Amino acid sequence: HWTRPVLVARVAFGGWTRTGRLRHAVFQRLREDEPVGEARTSTAGSRSLSHPDRVIDPESGVTKGELAEYYEAVAPWIAPHLADRPTALLRAPRGIDARTFFQKHASARASPPGIDSAALEGGARMLAISVPTGLLSAVQWNAIEFHTAGEVAAAPGEPDRLTFDLDPGEGVTWRALAEAAELVRVLQTDLGLQPFLKTSGGNGLHVVVPLRRGHDWNECKSFASSVADHLARTIPERFVAVSGPRRRVGKVFVDHLRNRPGATTVSAWSARARPGIAVSVPLRWDELSPEGPPLRWTIRDVPKGRPDGNAPWAAYARAR
Ligand code: ATP
Ligand code: MN
Repeated sequence: HWTRPVLVARVAFGGWTRTGRLRHAVFQRLREDEPVGEARTSTAGSRSLSHPDRVIDPESGVTKGELAEYYEAVAPWIAPHLADRPTALLRAPRGIDARTFFQKHASARASPPGIDSAALEGGARMLAISVPTGLLSAVQWNAIEFHTAGEVAAAPGEPDRLTFDLDPGEGVTWRALAEAAELVRVLQTDLGLQPFLKTSGGNGLHVVVPLRRGHDWNECKSFASSVADHLARTIPERFVAVSGPRRRVGKVFVDHLRNRPGATTVSAWSARARPGIAVSVPLRWDELSPEGPPLRWTIRDVPKGRPDGNAPWAAYARAR
């Protein structure tokens, strides 16, 4: 559609595509001082994606520009997972091999476009990322991972999900991990819950149980720890509920400690700041095969390798 230019806007962008479109364009403001027809591009002072060619993972050669393109591509899929949810960022200014830091709070200085603050119970604040603007601002800020809380900013103190992080101890095979996840599913289903599964993008799996709001963190915390204790007590050869690497050898640690105020878990579709830049991907339970190879996707395999996006979690909202 051809339109007659009437307004002039200032837009930050990462570069031009071959077909003459802007990459990673971010609206900044209208320029009422600029006459229509004289708009131009400038690199000075714009919020373009700096250093798109910088390698963030020496092992895979993934660059900052590639990461931005990945998040741009999955923006519609990650949007519902970040919407209204207090978020923390894992930032890696010099790549994943150098020092990284976990940013939970908005800084006192002006935040980049699309990154605001989100309230938690008790007045603590985390970040609120709007998609796509904040997502790309975060990448410009060298964020790689997005971690979210178990409550939404609209209802602090009323958790709307439980997360069980299944961490394989030393020597645990994919088969044993997949079987453990299936056992967790069976227990939770028997209790009347409907759990959902995702890869962590690291070594483990995350089981997420959507909740209707109305329970407080104390209830959620004690319920989650009871589930973990029950698994460890009834199937001690497979599960352990207390941390400590020695206790975990050959077993799956059911980490229930994420079910408390301010605790976070990596979001579905977040990239991971680990060699290969894998992604946390929502799965259907029937994709989890103990016989199959470990399920793993990286930012180079997604979105093409997971064209159905959030479809494996389509029943999530209804399952609360
Ligand atoms: P894996 O499958 O490899 O265990 P994971 O996502 O389950 O991956 P971690 O990346 O080790 O596990 O994350 C541990 C937890 O701690 C997550 O809930 C995350 O949100 C949180 N976290 C990560 N880094 C920090 C940090 N620097 N400070 C506070 N919390 C953090
Ligand atoms: Mn884990």
